[in-house]
Amino acid sequence: MYDFAYHKPTTVADAVKLLADPDAKAISGGHTLLPALKHRLNRPSALVDLTGIAELKGIRKQGNALVIGALARHVEVAESAEVKAAIPALAYMASHIGDVQVRNRGTIGGSVSNNDPAADYPAAVLGLGATIHTSSRKIAADDFFLGMFTTALEPGEILTAIEFPIPEKAGYAKMKNPASRYVMAGVFVAKTAGGVRVAVNGAGPCVFRQSEMERALAANWSADAVAGIRQSPEDLNSDIHGSAEYRAHLVTVMAKRAVLAAG
Ligand SMILES: Cc1cc2nc3c(=O)[nH]c(=O)nc-3n(C[C@H](O)[C@H](O)[C@H](O)COP(=O)(O)OP(=O)(O)OC[C@H]3O[C@@H](n4cnc5c(N)ncnc54)[C@H](O)[C@@H]3O)c2cc1C
Repeated sequence: MYDFAYHKPTTVADAVKLLADPDAKAISGGHTLLPALKHRLNRPSALVDLTGIAELKGIRKQGNALVIGALARHVEVAESAEVKAAIPALAYMASHIGDVQVRNRGTIGGSVSNNDPAADYPAAVLGLGATIHTSSRKIAADDFFLGMFTTALEPGEILTAIEFPIPEKAGYAKMKNPASRYVMAGVFVAKTAGGVRVAVNGAGPCVFRQSEMERALAANWSADAVAGIRQSPEDLNSDIHGSAEYRAHLVTVMAKRAVLAAG
């Protein structure tokens, strides 16, 4: 596990150069990568620690969007006055990720780059139609999440920030695994300038949009509008924590709660 070089660059440009080595790996909060190293699931030749890069930090309002730097830790998003004012559902989501230790170390950039099916942030990114900024381009949320632990990021590409459009309304609800707080099934709903968006996380191998619920909420923004919509269990996750059928049922329950939370 410990047989690797360690680098701590101070600019994105230097980090990109170091990550040109295909066996090097970026590290932010380390809350996913370090356990993976300990289990020998990953054996990088070098770790490129991003936490010394000032340009990846900070949360700022820019026009009608909130731009959150990749290194923003969950606790910073949860406690940010800007986030609470602009997108309270995002602050609420951040405040329910893992436990205090996880929230004090884990970063939004690490979480979204990792795209764990049971992670929280991908639902907000997709549900709000955010734009992912990287070291070389901007990627729309609809094009970013490609599958389980898979994103549109190319090898060596660094997620630098996420630009969240400020919605008219948004809400999030999740059924959490009581041990880890990872998502069993969660739903993020948003009424945005671009229309209504509904993103489901935890239930399937990758976060996805629930178009039937989007149409129902566009016609009638109320918990009743989604109460009768059944998510198909086909292709949903089934494991020791819950069957696909249970997760499908949870999607409707969480959607109702998310709409009520959004108000
Ligand atoms: C006990 C426990 C409980 C948890 N519970 C939850 C939960 O309830 N909900 C939830 O959403 N998450 C949960 N997590 C995960 C946690 O939220 C971390 O955010 C997550 O592990 C990734 O963030 P990180 O900063 O730690 O990334 P790291 O572990 O540093 O990196 C993760 C991956 O992303 C890559 N990476 C990191 N930063 C970047 C970047 N800027 N650009 C490109 N690639 C990058 C790394 O190379 C690595 O492959 C939990 C973790 C633990 C250990």
